[in-house]
Amino acid sequence: MRSIPFHKPSIGREEVDEVVDTLTSGWLTTGPKAKKFEAEFSEYIRMKHSVAVNSCTAALHLALEAIGLRAGETVVVPTMTFAATAEVVRYFNARPLLVDCNLTDFNMDVADAGRRIEGALQKGEKIRAIIPVHYGGQICDMTAVGKLARRYDLKIVEDAAHCCPSYFQASNSAPWQGLGDSSDICCFSFYANKTITTGEGGMACTNNPEYADRMRIMSLHGISRDAWKRFSADGSWYYEITAPGFKYNLTDIAAAIGLHQLRKADEFYCKRMLLADYYTELLCDVDELILPVQWNDRLHSWHLYVIRLKLDQLSIDRAGFIEELKRTGIGTSVHWMPLHMHPYYRATYGYQPGDLPKSRQLYEQIVSLPVYPEMTDADVEYVSETVRRLICKHRKVPAHLLEKRITVGDPVLA
Ligand SMILES: *Cc1c(COP(=O)(O)O)cnc(C)c1O
Repeated sequence: MRSIPFHKPSIGREEVDEVVDTLTSGWLTTGPKAKKFEAEFSEYIRMKHSVAVNSCTAALHLALEAIGLRAGETVVVPTMTFAATAEVVRYFNARPLLVDCNLTDFNMDVADAGRRIEGALQKGEKIRAIIPVHYGGQICDMTAVGKLARRYDLKIVEDAAHCCPSYFQASNSAPWQGLGDSSDICCFSFYANKTITTGEGGMACTNNPEYADRMRIMSLHGISRDAWKRFSADGSWYYEITAPGFKYNLTDIAAAIGLHQLRKADEFYCKRMLLADYYTELLCDVDELILPVQWNDRLHSWHLYVIRLKLDQLSIDRAGFIEELKRTGIGTSVHWMPLHMHPYYRATYGYQPGDLPKSRQLYEQIVSLPVYPEMTDADVEYVSETVRRLICKHRKVPAHLLEKRITVGDPVLA
């Protein structure tokens, strides 16, 4: 049987050689390669400062620390996201104000955010920041998020875990701009299945030098200078602890992988885009499916290709659909069960599934199909054909056809 896993990383000779070079260089932890990775990432993503860390979760934590989040304050977070986006708010004993998604690109519903912010303000909450998540690599409406943030004086920390690369236009005639232009800090993930990987890793990017300094210091024990300089020939043994920081630095071993992944980021992106276009071409006439949208003014990184099942037209549910795909050797995933439906957030804040109705509805319908550079056109054909076959098998016969069948059989002349 054919086997198409949900994800396979693209690791080439260059990454392997660079890691070996690091292993034999005498310097394993944060050092010259991490510095180089930061510099090249800044240039690629078009932001002034990049702080390399060991996960996107760490980057988000450092970002909220840098903007000065305090215990008891509130941060606006979409419920349609991964655990990390809200847990970092809880690290501060602050409250994530969960917001519904829209049903077009599954990003944060900014109007809903406005309503929930008003409600929270009336209860006397102090709202400090908003964390837009770019779902699957489809950039959310940053113009609307920016307006909202200005209106309520919120800092913007982007969860750009799915976005390497990502560019957008403020309007159809405006020039293309990088992500971080409209936010305070932008956080990227190099987890194993993300668009580029270092195994585990992340980057916190900003154009604000003060945020950059603070995040750099807090990423390594709150120490006033980088440890690697301390031990290198031009450094000194002396350092000062300026705050109780964290241990979030990226190793040179990981950065070695990242340097080459970054150089291939555009090539990876092009391959994913072609695969996504091919899926859309092969599946666009299946009435029981809703395929992902792509906006003309926003580049979709195609980290995810998510289809929606029109369940009212099918005699199978999403779990059954995934199970049948699995039996044909196709790995899929679900992004995500909304945060407000998880036991911790239900128990802590009393959320009911219907409190954020669109996300709950979406959750029951979505399936993420495999999309990564190692896939071939034949793989996409196999997945698409299998999806189409399963839909045909489980298509509900419309009620009016059933009725016809009965009347046709009526012995009219009897
Ligand atoms: C993967 C992911 C993260 C966390 O990234 P790590 O590098 O694993 O910490 C955060 N947010 C979103 C939306 C993600 O998909």
